[in-house]
Amino acid sequence: MAILPSSTALVVVDAQYDFAEGGTLAVPGALAAYARIARHIDATRYDVLVTTQDWHIDPGTHWSDQPDFEDSWPVHCAAETRGAEVHDEIAAAVDRYTARGRRAHRIIKGEYAAAYSGAEGHEVGGDRGLCEILDASLVRRVDVCGVATDYCVAATARDLRDHGYAVRVLPNLVAAINAEEGQRVLAAYGGAERP
Ligand SMILES: [Zn+2]
Repeated sequence: MAILPSSTALVVVDAQYDFAEGGTLAVPGALAAYARIARHIDATRYDVLVTTQDWHIDPGTHWSDQPDFEDSWPVHCAAETRGAEVHDEIAAAVDRYTARGRRAHRIIKGEYAAAYSGAEGHEVGGDRGLCEILDASLVRRVDVCGVATDYCVAATARDLRDHGYAVRVLPNLVAAINAEEGQRVLAAYGGAERP
């Protein structure tokens, strides 16, 4: 029986300053999740590492002065601002990952309209989307982490599963806007909290 080559990937969704405590759209527990994500990158050996970033230039009604926190949100992750940067602890872990001879990919999304899923984005300086990058490396299994569990993590996990990957959302490496919704996402993609 032939054994097909397959690779693993870690997708870190929107681990940005504006989504952390002190940011314009803070998700409770984000900073602690970011620290654990950085340690996870150091401690594991994924074949492919992808970070996604919400990267807004003029996202229309996605930004609002009177947000409903469902379809409209306070101004966040404006392109080229500090708030849109991946948190330094994770950026440093990504640098250590690439120093081990592996390639990390950066995806941006949402320039001119809301984009919750990382699969809606494209690589910086190129046209390839998330699935094209993963397919090019023969990825079959994808672990997803980041923020927010109930929005961009959920949308990214759904799109990746629809594309055919075996997807897990890593329970200790996410933070949710609505805790109950977050638990529902974890139940759908890998179950309860791991030790
Ligand atoms: Zn956004």
